[in-house]
Amino acid sequence: MSDLVVKNLHVSIEGKEILKGLNLTLPKGEVHAIMGPNGTGKSTLAYTLMGHPSYEVTKGEVYFKEKNILELEPNERSLLGIFLAFQYPVAIPGVTVANFIRSAVNSRRRAENPSDKGVPLLEFRRSVKEKMELLKMDPSFAGRYLNDGFSGGEKKRAEILQMAMLKPEIAVLDETDSGLDIDALKTVSEGVNTLRGPELGVLVITHYQRILNYIQPDVVHVMMDGRIVESGGKELALHLEERGYDWIREKVNGVA
Ligand code: ADP
Ligand code: MG
Repeated sequence: MSDLVVKNLHVSIEGKEILKGLNLTLPKGEVHAIMGPNGTGKSTLAYTLMGHPSYEVTKGEVYFKEKNILELEPNERSLLGIFLAFQYPVAIPGVTVANFIRSAVNSRRRAENPSDKGVPLLEFRRSVKEKMELLKMDPSFAGRYLNDGFSGGEKKRAEILQMAMLKPEIAVLDETDSGLDIDALKTVSEGVNTLRGPELGVLVITHYQRILNYIQPDVVHVMMDGRIVESGGKELALHLEERGYDWIREKVNGVA
C-alpha cells in the first residue's frame, strides 16, 4: 500500500509541542490541500515528514509503503519516494542546479541498482531542458548555483524542477505559492499539474486558497493548533477564503 498515513503525530520543537495528535491519510494518486493560519504547524508537519533533526517526534507513526518512515533517515525517505518543496529553499553556493539534481537523480538510480553508472550526460541535459521549458525557466539557470541570488519565484520553480526530475510518489509542497506573482503561480501550478497522475500523491500546504484554483485538490484539510480539525471538498477552501478561520476555531472550541 503506498498511501501516506499519519497517525496521532505529536511533534515538539525545543520542548514546545507544535503538532498535537495529527491524523491524515493521503491516498496514492490524490492531491490534498492543507490550509491553516500562520504558526499552526504546517511547516512543522512538512519538515517532520522529511525527517528534519530539529523536530522531535514524541508520539505517533507515519506509514508509507509498509514502513514507519519516522525510523528512516531523510535520504532514505527521499529514496523511498518522498519529496519536500521547501517554503524557504536554501542557497547552496558552489553547487549548480544541474549538478545538484544530477547527483540526486544518480543516488536514486544507485539505490535501485548498485551497479548503475549514472544517468548519461546527454540524456540528463535533454531531460532537464525539457522540464525547464515546461516551467518557463531560462536555460542558463541550470548552470547557476542553487538558489544563490534567486528571486522568490525562481526558488519555487527550482523546487518544482527538482520534483519533476526526481519523480517522487509523495510530494509535499510547503507554501509553494508564497511570493509568487500570478504568472509565476500559473506556471508553477501547470508544472505540478503535468506531474499529477495515479503514481503521485501531493500535499499542497498553503495559507491562501489562490493556488487551489490552479492545482485542484481532491480533498481540503484545515489545520489548527497542531491538528487537522476539518476535512472536505474543494469548496471548503472557498469557504475559508470568504469567512476566514474564526468560524472553524469557534466550531472546534464548541463556541456557538
Ligand atoms: P506554519 O507553517 O503553519 O506557519 P510552523 O510549523 O512554521 O507553522 O510553526 C509552528 C510553531 O512552531 C510556531 O509557533 C513557530 O514559532 C514554532 N517554530 C517553528 N520552527 C521553530 C524553530 N526552529 N524553533 C522554535 N520554534 C519554532
Ligand atoms: Mg509554514
